[in-house]
Amino acid sequence: MSDEKETEDAVETAVVPEGPFSVESKIAPPPLTCPKCDGLLPSALGELSCVLCGARMKIEHEVTRRDWENEKLGCPKCKKLLVVGVGERPTNIRCASCQCDFEVKAKVPKTEVKCPGCERRLRLRTRPGTRSVSCPACDTRFEMTG
Ligand SMILES: [Zn+2]
Ligand SMILES: [Zn+2]
Ligand SMILES: [Zn+2]
Repeated sequence: MSDEKETEDAVETAVVPEGPFSVESKIAPPPLTCPKCDGLLPSALGELSCVLCGARMKIEHEVTRRDWENEKLGCPKCKKLLVVGVGERPTNIRCASCQCDFEVKAKVPKTEVKCPGCERRLRLRTRPGTRSVSCPACDTRFEMTG
C-alpha cells in the first residue's frame, strides 16, 4: 500500500494497550435515598455526602460488601477468571496468573427512560436529582429524575 494515511492508521490499531488495566464491577449497592432531602444518593458505600443537600452520612450494606468480595471478574489482560476478594469498589487487585495490577471500578448505574418524542428506550447514567436531557435520536428535550 502506498497511501500514507492508511499506513499510519494501521500502526495505531496495532498498538497493544499496556495499561493501566481496569474492569468495571457488575455489582452496585442498592439505590438509596437521602434521609434528609429524599434525593438519590451516590452509588457507593462508606462515608459519602448527598450531592443535592450536602448531608454527610455513612452507608453500609453487608450484602453488597460480601458480593463484592466474592465477585468473579475476568482479568483484563489474560482473561482468566478470578475472585476479587476485596469488599470495596473501586479497588486495585493483582491477577495471580499474569501478575498484572488492575483496577476494579465501581459499577456505573444506568436508568432506562422512554423518550416522550419518539418512544425510544434510552439508557442513561443515573444521577441524583432532576435534569434536562435530549434524545440522541429525535432531539426532544425532556426532564428526567434518576
Ligand atoms: Zn440530601
Ligand atoms: Zn491476568
Ligand atoms: Zn426521541
